[in-house]
Amino acid sequence: MLLYIHIPFCDSKCYYCAFNSYVDKFHLKEHYMEALCTQLQFELKRFNITSKEIESIFIGGGTPSTVAPALYKKIFDALKPYLKDNIEITSEANPNSATAEWLEGMFKLGVNRISFGVQSFDKDKLKLLNRSHGAVQAVEAVLNAKKIGFKNISIDLIYATLNDTKKLLENDLSTAFSLPINHLSAYALTIEEGTLFESKPYMSKEKLGLTSWFFKKITDFGFNQYEISNFGSYQSTHNLGYWEYKDYIGLGSGAVGKLGLKRYYPTTCIEDYIKNPLDIRSELLTLEDKKIEQIFLGLRSCVGVCKDLLNKEELKKAKLLVDEKKLLFKNDTFYNIDYLLADEITLFIS
Ligand code: SF4
Repeated sequence: MLLYIHIPFCDSKCYYCAFNSYVDKFHLKEHYMEALCTQLQFELKRFNITSKEIESIFIGGGTPSTVAPALYKKIFDALKPYLKDNIEITSEANPNSATAEWLEGMFKLGVNRISFGVQSFDKDKLKLLNRSHGAVQAVEAVLNAKKIGFKNISIDLIYATLNDTKKLLENDLSTAFSLPINHLSAYALTIEEGTLFESKPYMSKEKLGLTSWFFKKITDFGFNQYEISNFGSYQSTHNLGYWEYKDYIGLGSGAVGKLGLKRYYPTTCIEDYIKNPLDIRSELLTLEDKKIEQIFLGLRSCVGVCKDLLNKEELKKAKLLVDEKKLLFKNDTFYNIDYLLADEITLFIS
């Protein structure tokens, strides 16, 4: 069982961002954090959690570092009896708000992994994306996290943005790898509906050749790719849990939870969520939906696809791809050799 907590507050809205996050609702923070505690109690019952069963926590957003550590204390206290020992507890953070004080406060609460939304160390690119931090702040934030004692530090980078050159991306990687990180997530800039970039599709320059080149550069620095966008000398147990199709509680406005064949969606409106954190829409998956998702997630990551998941016809096609050296078959599981082909292989097999 995994736990995701959504913090829907941000200092500024990045031009590409379609996440449920707001820049003008900071006054609701205290009430929002209270509402999370109410939903938590409800979910513990719904998921039938009575003992130490939660195996990882991820606080995402939005920007979790816009909320002071003191406001997280109540939820951490409420969670304590249900956490397995020595679990991974990650918080996302943005370099401008993850001050040494904030990092120290979260570390004391038990957060042991930080994932910084860096995106780039290039000042013009940061401006183009409307990020609210500068390169120096990003470097300082990572160094502060290391000094405070975080062993696991990750950063996000964005590539395939208008004006990206191989030189710029190489500079981003060499700065990233000069820092004490053990994980990196790399995302191609995609144009999402409802974002400022929706009217500027030319902002994204995604090309297969550039993506493969960028991935190779990251692995040349010594990180292993264990999912299409994730690299590291450390593999996040929370990430792996999603790809292994484990159940997860989704707390907060705009979060998603999953239990068996049911998905749960708390309301995305912060005011409504505060009024009633149990206003949660549910969706029933079919066994076929579940199977396709498992194949898709398995082929995008090092998790792979167990042969027992496939019917006779699908098995025949998977074996054909093994002969074609597109898949690897080991321990009753099919593994994808090139994650960039995950979509095509999923379509071919299923
Ligand atoms: S900081 Fe993250 S969540 Fe907030 S607007 Fe930017 S991309 Fe979106």
